[in-house]
Amino acid sequence: MTFSVSILATGSELLDGRVLDTNSHFVARELSERGLKLKRVLCVDDDIDELLAGLRQLTEVSQLVITSGGLGPTSDDLTRDLLAAAAGVSLVEFPNARAHLESFYRARGRVVDSTNLRQALLPEGAEMIPNPIGTAPGFIVRVGTSIVCSLSGVPREFQRMFNETVLPLVVSKAGLTETIQRRSFKVFGLPESLVGAKVEDLALSKEVTVSYRAAFPEVHVTLKCSGATRLLDEAAAAVRGVFAPHGFIFTEDPKITLLQSVHALLLANGLTVATAESCTGGMVGQFLTQQPGSSGYFRGGVLAYSDEVKRRELGVPETLISSHGAVSAEVVAVMAEAARSKFKTDYALAVSGVAGPDGGSDAKPVGTVYLGVASSAGVLTRLCFYASERENVRRYSSLAVLDMLRRSILGAALPDGYPVMKF
Ligand code: ATP
Ligand code: MG
Repeated sequence: MTFSVSILATGSELLDGRVLDTNSHFVARELSERGLKLKRVLCVDDDIDELLAGLRQLTEVSQLVITSGGLGPTSDDLTRDLLAAAAGVSLVEFPNARAHLESFYRARGRVVDSTNLRQALLPEGAEMIPNPIGTAPGFIVRVGTSIVCSLSGVPREFQRMFNETVLPLVVSKAGLTETIQRRSFKVFGLPESLVGAKVEDLALSKEVTVSYRAAFPEVHVTLKCSGATRLLDEAAAAVRGVFAPHGFIFTEDPKITLLQSVHALLLANGLTVATAESCTGGMVGQFLTQQPGSSGYFRGGVLAYSDEVKRRELGVPETLISSHGAVSAEVVAVMAEAARSKFKTDYALAVSGVAGPDGGSDAKPVGTVYLGVASSAGVLTRLCFYASERENVRRYSSLAVLDMLRRSILGAALPDGYPVMKF
């Protein structure tokens, strides 16, 4: 029989929609990576009868139950009382829990009061779970034949306590030896449906499971396989073979974002960049300054929202605007080159488009955005058409021009139509 683990997520805020139960999601992901699926997830109100009924239900079907929340000092924090009642013991003060509380408060120039001292009370005979980044320690107790691990509800604390104490316990109790291996690919510039179709065409080994996640506007492809590394490597090579030659994979590291990969490329190559933005209103600059250390490459930009600023600050000729429109390849080319010479950078990025909801026309409907990247090799422009809500259009085009910059630095050609969603 496989070892069964369930979660009791407590708190009325989880039931009335104020807070999403991310703690259960976190545990589900951590365990499934090790080949173990949760038995049940239950959310219950801060009410002792509800809590007792929930705990009873889960201990009946699980060898290990994790509780989340309710360890704080206030009257609605009932988990300590719940577990003491369920285990048939009383609450007693744990000296090491008290010492932790006192030093936690002392380090912040405060003194623990009697309310906060409630957090040093744990069910008699329990094993304390340290909480290095918060006040309330957790604990492990036996309830019938089940082990119950009670953790703080604060997600940072919950994760830390889970990783440091509960996960090793589950791994040893469940005898989890087989680790699921995975390979990840993050793709920019293609819709999820097309990425999926291309991967399905590869007819990968049945041992390898494929999952997709659209993290707008990126698409993440994950290959998973238990044990057989060779099969996984073959599948990964096949996926790479489809997307990498066209430059669509910006990273194979699941923790890296598009912004981080652009950031790393600029720094590693000692390159500088500037911007000239119209419809994105500074979003490209905001993205470029998001990572600490961005002063190593970002010089500045011109927020050229009106035609007048495009003319005055970037020298876009009036005739170019009147003949092609401010939303045109011709205008973004001038904007990009002007920003590059104004800020004396290696690269300059320009954006001009119709973010909507008004201002579209038959020739240039909402979602029509021109992108430009100027470098010493000249200027590259692209139409980036993405018919969506204003914020999506702005976000997509801001990230697309950054992806164009990534491709320019790497010398990856822009496929036909890129980044219109096809190739
Ligand atoms: P505290 O000592 O802060 O009172 P606690 O262990 O009593 O911690 P709760 O009071 O239940 O935990 O929740 C603390 C914080 O964590 C709240 O902001 C709550 O919204 C959040 N939280 C609680 N449970 C979850 C959960 N399952 N998923 C995500 N966030 C949660
Ligand atoms: Mg609380």
